[in-house]
Amino acid sequence: MEKQAKQVIVIGSGLAGLAVAIRLALQGKRVTVYEKNAYPGGKLTQRKMGAYTFDAGPSLFTLPHLLIDLFHAAGLRAADYFEFEEIPEAFYYHFSDGSSFYTHKDEMLFRKRLSALFSEKEVATFFKHLSRAKLRYEATAPLFLERSLHEWRTYFSKAVLPAIAKVPRLGLFGRMHTENEALFQDKRLQQYFDRFATYNGSDPYEAPALLNLIPHLEHGYGTFYPKKGMHQITEALFALAQKCGVQFEFNKAVKRILTQDGKAVGIRLMDEQEISSDLVVCNADIRFAYEHLIPEIPAPKAFDRLASSSSAIIFYWGVKRKFPALRLHNLFFTADYKSEFEAIFNGKGYSDDPTIYINIGSKQVISDAPAVGENWFVMVNVAADNGQNWEEIRKSVRTNVIEKMSAILQQDIASLIEEEDFLDPPRIEQRTASIGGGLYGHASNERMAAFWRQANKSNRLKNLYFCGGSVHPGGGIPLCLNSAKITSELIAKYEN
Ligand SMILES: Cc1cc2nc3c(=O)[nH]c(=O)nc-3n(C[C@H](O)[C@H](O)[C@H](O)COP(=O)(O)OP(=O)(O)OC[C@H]3O[C@@H](n4cnc5c(N)ncnc54)[C@H](O)[C@@H]3O)c2cc1C
Repeated sequence: MEKQAKQVIVIGSGLAGLAVAIRLALQGKRVTVYEKNAYPGGKLTQRKMGAYTFDAGPSLFTLPHLLIDLFHAAGLRAADYFEFEEIPEAFYYHFSDGSSFYTHKDEMLFRKRLSALFSEKEVATFFKHLSRAKLRYEATAPLFLERSLHEWRTYFSKAVLPAIAKVPRLGLFGRMHTENEALFQDKRLQQYFDRFATYNGSDPYEAPALLNLIPHLEHGYGTFYPKKGMHQITEALFALAQKCGVQFEFNKAVKRILTQDGKAVGIRLMDEQEISSDLVVCNADIRFAYEHLIPEIPAPKAFDRLASSSSAIIFYWGVKRKFPALRLHNLFFTADYKSEFEAIFNGKGYSDDPTIYINIGSKQVISDAPAVGENWFVMVNVAADNGQNWEEIRKSVRTNVIEKMSAILQQDIASLIEEEDFLDPPRIEQRTASIGGGLYGHASNERMAAFWRQANKSNRLKNLYFCGGSVHPGGGIPLCLNSAKITSELIAKYEN
């Protein structure tokens, strides 16, 4: 008799939820995704206001091949679903002393731009540091980013053994800022490299120096943007999942993962309906999962040692003017980075002089703003919610941001805002069930963070797997896609 395909329930249609559903459907499994929202994508969604369209969450897109890989796995042409382009001049950086530079993917041109601001020695060190980032990335990605860290097999694979041998020299034991401070006398360059810690919600003054590999993603592989905006990533994966036969149930919040004799056996929805399945894959935030979905299983002890990743306050501003000096990504540094991180991770939760990130999607997707306007996504990092008064904080941050940007751009920004909305830690939590509104689950401030993250396969309950930004290998679009791949490979190995 023909063996029945296994029934899999995926909880959550975030990026990793969509990607794992596709991969499991391609393995021949019957997959249904239960999503509490009315729409797919989780953090990667869209917001429309008047004539403006905003990408609500992620704005920086790197390593597009990881996405393309999903279409190829399905035997399809990615370009039929998803178009993107490389952005040669993606970032504008502005420092508190008024100096600024634009990045460029052409190294000669970028070198020239840096040389106008920094000494020859500092510029040489800048590119040496990038070369080291490349070495670090290439040496560690097979171990830390592309495989389960919780399978013995990983440590004996041919691709990984060389990485393990290099670990002592890769910067697992030093700190990110300490290394950058030792390399650069110019504080602006220290700030530039420290900033990459925020790409996974961490503190460069605490995070391991190994995170100095992150700039390689931008400088080595390049910065990209979907032709129709970031939301196209969600749309393309959703379309692909449906094509692969994945079923979706929206507006269906999961209340519990049902367990029996040490196994996950299905789910209970908020309306008490119970649905059984052979396997459950949880894409919801891992701390939420332990608190609400499997409260009978204690969270791993290591979680106590991990800080939450930072959260953010985001203002979506429809601005009725164009700013030709700005680019797709713009960063306006604080005068005092140390105090800003201190405030976020150990203090009141926000800085009075925050580093401000402004993403302007309409620089690429012209139709996302009126002819004389721009869609500003204005973000400052703050602590994850811990009971702070966010309404008050938001007002204070808004005043500071408007004051600072008006001074820098020599324009009264407040009077240009014709559409407005915001996101803050409580709203992020409410919309995506991410505890405290953390953007990336746990921070990577601890040197052992990579090993202490939740494994993709539960070691407490059979038939239960995890994927997404709060589990191995971590947050952000590329790692979420890797997470889905690792999880699907474990399922292929253990559950056929
Ligand atoms: C403001 C912001 C900016 C960011 N910027 C970037 C960036 O520039 N580049 C980058 O790479 N990354 C960025 N990130 C991080 C990136 O968005 C995330 O790492 C990634 O999208 C997380 O995907 P995920 O698969 O973990 O799921 P999530 O997006 O967290 O989605 C989880 C899904 O599960 C659903 N769910 C939860 N609980 C239940 C339940 N009980 N029942 C049913 N459904 C449930 C949720 O509704 C949600 O749809 C940003 C994030 C935010 C919020």
